[in-house]
Amino acid sequence: MSQSCSVKKCTRTSRWVCDCCQQNFCLQHLNEHNAFLTSQLNSLNDNIKVLRDRLKTLNIHTAIANSRRKLEEWRQDCYKKIDYLFEQKCQELDQLVEEKIRQQREELNRIYSKITELINAQETTRQDIDLLILNIRLLETNMNNIEQTCFTINTHPLVIDDKFTLIKTTTERELDLLTLSPVYRTMRYPKESFVSLISNDRYLMMHQQPNLCLVDREMNIVKQKLWSYGPIWDMCWSSTLDKFIVLEKNNIYLVD
Ligand SMILES: [Zn+2]
Ligand SMILES: [Zn+2]
Repeated sequence: MSQSCSVKKCTRTSRWVCDCCQQNFCLQHLNEHNAFLTSQLNSLNDNIKVLRDRLKTLNIHTAIANSRRKLEEWRQDCYKKIDYLFEQKCQELDQLVEEKIRQQREELNRIYSKITELINAQETTRQDIDLLILNIRLLETNMNNIEQTCFTINTHPLVIDDKFTLIKTTTERELDLLTLSPVYRTMRYPKESFVSLISNDRYLMMHQQPNLCLVDREMNIVKQKLWSYGPIWDMCWSSTLDKFIVLEKNNIYLVD
């Protein structure tokens, strides 16, 4: 028995079954069906052309530039830290020598004054002379030591972990501030603790009743100290002082 065309309201007999969709069509509707499919092909062709043009004129320079700027900031920050440490160590070296020289100069002046005093008075004793000889010998020994000063500098190569800078591709939509990360770590936080929380580039400082705690990246407490003062109103990190500042009702405390 012959099938009828599957198009609604068409009473013609089906002549073909379309391979792609298994529908029965009369000749007229088979042509229409074919024309419809072909027209979809044209529209897909247009879509792909649009995408091809977008790829050709792709402009993510801003995103790259912003990210490079961030990496550059990190680089400059690292340089600054190395420079700062270098300056500190240079000062330390200078101070070590200066302190020795200062002591030597003071002792030298003291003995020089003593001798001048005795010469002016034109009076001295055997004990004075013996003591002066002893002092001058000591000064000579010190002078030799200062002249032969040398330092041993032990340095370790700086190990830079690749994980210090991680690049993750996100789309702008993912940067929605309402999108929270999954729970990073869980830690005990007694109810009576003060809520202020502050960080520098290494540690997070928080109050965990009854202690003031320094917490590392893994949220491990690396240092804690009993907070025996009043309620903490606020805290902040001062890069100038290189210390945490804790504000209480009447007092300000500095924490190393
Ligand atoms: Zn078909
Ligand atoms: Zn038909």
